[in-house]
Amino acid sequence: MAKILRVNMTDRTATYEDVPDAYKFLGGRGLTSTIIHDEVDPTCHPLGPNNKLVFAPGIITGTNAPTSGRVSAGAKSPLTGGIKESNAGSAWPQLVARLGIKAIVVEGYPQDDGWWGLHVTKDGAEFFPADEYVGKSLYEIFPGLFDRFGDKVGIATIGVAGEMRMAMAGICFNDIDNRPSRYSGRGGLGAVMGSKHLKFIIVDGEGAPGVEIADKALFDQGRKKMLEALRSHDITKPGGGLNSYGTAVLVNIINEAGGFPTHNFREGRFEGAAKISGEAMAEYCETRGGVGTMGHPCHPGCVIRCSNVIPNPDGTELVSVIEYETTWALGANCGIADLDVIGKLTWLCNDIGLDTIEAGGTIAVAMEAGLAEFGDGQRAIELLEEIRKGTPLGHVLGNGAAATGKVFGVVRVPAVKGQNMPAYEPRAIKGIGMTYAISTMGADHTSGYTIAPEILSVGGKADPFAL
Ligand code: SF4
Repeated sequence: MAKILRVNMTDRTATYEDVPDAYKFLGGRGLTSTIIHDEVDPTCHPLGPNNKLVFAPGIITGTNAPTSGRVSAGAKSPLTGGIKESNAGSAWPQLVARLGIKAIVVEGYPQDDGWWGLHVTKDGAEFFPADEYVGKSLYEIFPGLFDRFGDKVGIATIGVAGEMRMAMAGICFNDIDNRPSRYSGRGGLGAVMGSKHLKFIIVDGEGAPGVEIADKALFDQGRKKMLEALRSHDITKPGGGLNSYGTAVLVNIINEAGGFPTHNFREGRFEGAAKISGEAMAEYCETRGGVGTMGHPCHPGCVIRCSNVIPNPDGTELVSVIEYETTWALGANCGIADLDVIGKLTWLCNDIGLDTIEAGGTIAVAMEAGLAEFGDGQRAIELLEEIRKGTPLGHVLGNGAAATGKVFGVVRVPAVKGQNMPAYEPRAIKGIGMTYAISTMGADHTSGYTIAPEILSVGGKADPFAL
């Protein structure tokens, strides 16, 4: 029977509870948001003792259902002030689910300056001191963690931005090759984890009992149907759009539709779009060779494989992964049309523990404020380094686009409820504009992805100008 793991950072206890009947059929976003709704005082400070951070694998995560290694993180957001959910693909939630854990609820507040990690195995959950890992680069500490805990564990963590409680901080999970590169980026949930001085949740799935399936025959029937659908659709099939060009297959499509925001949402078409597209990434992989890979899975069992490993000119690794939202945020929105620079900026976000969407949106607002010229990649790198160092400017930037706009008196701040808009121009694709405007999570494309019917004709067809 699945359990809820409750982690209290006040007295550092970890206890297992039965899952209430009301939560029985919930998973992922539905479960994190319901627990926050039920347990968190809506008037609490997001970084104070009364907020909680909840992790929940999807309801079929941990089974052999395709592409199901997804995790939702949820809390009251320091960026939006409302209930926030942010999800990522990683093996971490597969291990959590196989250990019979339906959700991990982190609550309470540290009583001293110490930092802690939680090591979860089939035998229970134990705290370990984590001070030695604080203030460091995530790429630097990851190899040592896998040496210490085993190379099959899953890691959830925060970077220095989360330690400094910056509202742009995400929660990082390891990818299939144990890089610190898969993020629940949005909403500043890394700052909530930092406020509790919880540096890691490390999960070891060895000897895990696995996910209980009520009707195996029915499950297999559904799994087969899903597999066939994914393997035959042009977008998701092997050799299809996502597999060949990653999520950045959208760059040229959205740009053609006039919905690819550039220069801090001044226009909906970017002249350098082709240079930062999924097709350009595939060309890098082909011509530079080395470790370059398109069709990379973020976790075992993904049949779509939309991730990538982008190579340097000499074939060594530049970064994994550059997503559509990332190439847009750190590229087009900042007027940067150089994939190598975007790769470096992405690597820095992974290393520092930042949401790439909010980071790109903030740099664009900083450019609007005159802190850099649009298109100046070197200056963008310096601004991210300010965040890493925690300088006064770094703290302003690290708190996101809306905070940066306010401090520097910028009036063009494309944010809703304090969160920067993602990679779709709402004036050209009106349905997504409605999503931004009315979502309780602020400007969040995952709250209602109208791009599917409006642009891709998936799941129906809607005219983006008819609204
Ligand atoms: S590789 Fe892409 S499609 Fe597969 S789970 Fe990860 S994010 Fe989703």
